Amino acid sequence: MRTWAEIDLGALEENYRALRGLLPAGCRFLGVVKANAYGHGAVPAARRLEALGAEYLAAACLDEAAELREAGISAPILVLGPIPVEQAGEAAAQNVTATVCHWENARALSAAAVAAGRTLKIHLKADTGMSRLGLVCDHAHLSAAVEEMAAIAALPGLEVEGVFTHFADADGDEAFTMLQLQRFQALLEGLRDRGIVPAIRHCAGSAATLKYPAAYLDMVRPGIALYGHYPDPSCKGPGSPVLRPVMRLCTRVVDVRTVPAGATVSYGRTARLERETRLAVLPIGYGDGLFRCLSNRGRITIRGVPRTITGRVCMDLCMVPAGEDVQVGDVAEVYGPSQPVEEAAALAGTISYELLTAVGRRVPRVYLG
Ligand SMILES: *Cc1c(COP(=O)(O)O)cnc(C)c1O
Repeated sequence: MRTWAEIDLGALEENYRALRGLLPAGCRFLGVVKANAYGHGAVPAARRLEALGAEYLAAACLDEAAELREAGISAPILVLGPIPVEQAGEAAAQNVTATVCHWENARALSAAAVAAGRTLKIHLKADTGMSRLGLVCDHAHLSAAVEEMAAIAALPGLEVEGVFTHFADADGDEAFTMLQLQRFQALLEGLRDRGIVPAIRHCAGSAATLKYPAAYLDMVRPGIALYGHYPDPSCKGPGSPVLRPVMRLCTRVVDVRTVPAGATVSYGRTARLERETRLAVLPIGYGDGLFRCLSNRGRITIRGVPRTITGRVCMDLCMVPAGEDVQVGDVAEVYGPSQPVEEAAALAGTISYELLTAVGRRVPRVYLG
């Protein structure tokens, strides 16, 4: 194989168990498998999580949820993004749970569910400070949000199973996270006063699951931690569970060439060799998800030695110094236990999430464990 991603489902299982171990009895676990399970393969990840007893799964959109249903996944699936009106019937038919962000969307979903003769399960979304989706629930807008949610709850064809919010900075600003949690709790009280007590109240993604037990409520929603990565180094305290990376992105040296002193390497001639150098050619490039901004910066490990990419990353190839020892056929680790994706993410000015989800479609996933 040219370039492949080993996906260790045994590590996924260990991470699941470690996170589950933090939760009190009765707290549900929603495994986030959106974006092809952060690049790890949505169907195999969802199958394993379902077998391990995860009560819920989450997808970003209806198409992702439908892929899981077609693969035979029967666990409840929350679609995190808004479902367009024209997909409402399909949402009900696929038996997925819709996120409802406002009255107009709720009314359309209700009408479609009634027309289809079905009941659509919904989770109401509260915006407590992310300013992305949901009803604004700061102090000034709380009672309006309660009224709107109560009106939604009274619509036919919809069953309010849950209510949730999302933290903007759970891996950073503790005070703001606690303010968001307070706003959410105030909303829950307001709903209770109106006789609305959704069974599943949830707000914690990976960071809050690792840091704030007070935010567990009825369910947690980790994504990145399942795949073996901390959202931020600050989420890794002395008592934190040990997470193991699930993905190892590998490629194999296709050529080793000796390039004369003074030669320049790759497009744009951004690297010049001081002396005669053995270069290993690797069949991975930005077409596989290796960010081009890692040119002359990112490192790839071969024979236990990290080697900085020489020159620009091309679409399908890149070059690294081969030293004396590297041979054609050697396996190179791009991300994995020897070459943390966090390091590459920091060099690229981004987060592990983006590098993992960017691993391309042409990179076959090879499942272990
Ligand atoms: C992606 C997402 C999560 C998971 O976030 P992680 O940081 O990967 O744990 C949880 N909730 C919502 C609403 C999300 O969009």
